[in-house]
Amino acid sequence: MAEKNPTICIIDDNPEDREIFRRYLLQDTRYHYQCYEEETGEEGLALCKRIQPDCILLDYKLPDIDGIEFLAGLVDASGSVPFAVIMLAGLGDEGIALQAMKSGAQDYLVKDEMTPGNLFRAIHNAIERTAMRRSLEKHQQDLEQKNQEIQAFAYALAHDLRAPLRAITGFSQIVEQDYQAVLDADGRHYMENIVHACAQMDRLIDDLLNYTRIEHRAIRFKPVALGYLMQQIVKGMATRINENQATINIAEDLPTVYGDATLINQIFVNLLENALVYHKPGENAQVTISWWEEDESAVICLADNGIGISPKNHEKIFNLFQRLHSDDIYPGTGIGLAIVKKAVDLLDGFVWVESTLGVESKFFVKLPKYVL
Ligand code: ADP
Repeated sequence: MAEKNPTICIIDDNPEDREIFRRYLLQDTRYHYQCYEEETGEEGLALCKRIQPDCILLDYKLPDIDGIEFLAGLVDASGSVPFAVIMLAGLGDEGIALQAMKSGAQDYLVKDEMTPGNLFRAIHNAIERTAMRRSLEKHQQDLEQKNQEIQAFAYALAHDLRAPLRAITGFSQIVEQDYQAVLDADGRHYMENIVHACAQMDRLIDDLLNYTRIEHRAIRFKPVALGYLMQQIVKGMATRINENQATINIAEDLPTVYGDATLINQIFVNLLENALVYHKPGENAQVTISWWEEDESAVICLADNGIGISPKNHEKIFNLFQRLHSDDIYPGTGIGLAIVKKAVDLLDGFVWVESTLGVESKFFVKLPKYVL
């Protein structure tokens, strides 16, 4: 919905032209405009940023800067012009029209051919577009706030579930161990199920807390030597690696990337854990970690010889709670790769998978390389 009294900034150093625009605007029966005027580019930019107008009428030729430079001065952090700008230029300046549109202007009018009709049409479009953009921004803000509320709720919930779960786990273990004699076979079986379900819920709570925490802790960007980090990860997982009789081959020349050590650690721990879990039945996991350089980034590849993932699931597996197997076959929570994706996003990187079902999976992580 457009506003009732739309605001327009007229940036033009020619007083007669400004007078004509004002007179035209008074004839518009749809809106009653609030007009603001400036004569130079610098003053115009300050005015527009202060007023946040619904539409800007911008003369291409200003005394200090030209219309394209003016548009560049309006560009926001997202790299776009957050205003509806109608560029005004002289006859024969068609080249400018194209350049203006490419630089973020919404419309273009030739001053000598301007009529109230074509001016109104351009302004009405601009006002509608501004109203749409603002409503979209408002929706995005609401959505972000709701998202944060949900995350805070999930965190509080997971946190508060811990204490009662600890009690259930503890008492179930006591019953399982100390009351064996008084339980019959069914009773023992049910107790085993309870203990197993408790362990599963404990993992789920841990993973959920990790997932929600990731966004709330400060990210510290610094050089991270992947060779050392990977050695530490493998040391920390030594028992699991030995139990699985897995082999891990790590390239000797792993690079130093620029990121947050905790997040990077979490990424590779989760990927390596998956490579150990999703091995083929009866076959030991073989994992190879290699890398190459690509546009000032490092692409790290973690390849396994496991069960593989069908192409239709290559994107899905990074969603929260997305699992491809039941817990009896491969235990898990469906949160590991969602953590990987979130961590990689926070580090301005990319993660993707290439895999052949029944043959292998390769997870790629692209991170900014540390340049001295
Ligand atoms: P979880 O492992 O707890 O189920 P993840 O988010 O880590 O959750 O993984 C999501 C799903 O992606 C897994 O359930 C599994 O089906 C699939 N997956 C992940 N890593 C691999 C892998 N290396 N090989 C085969 N499948 C995998």
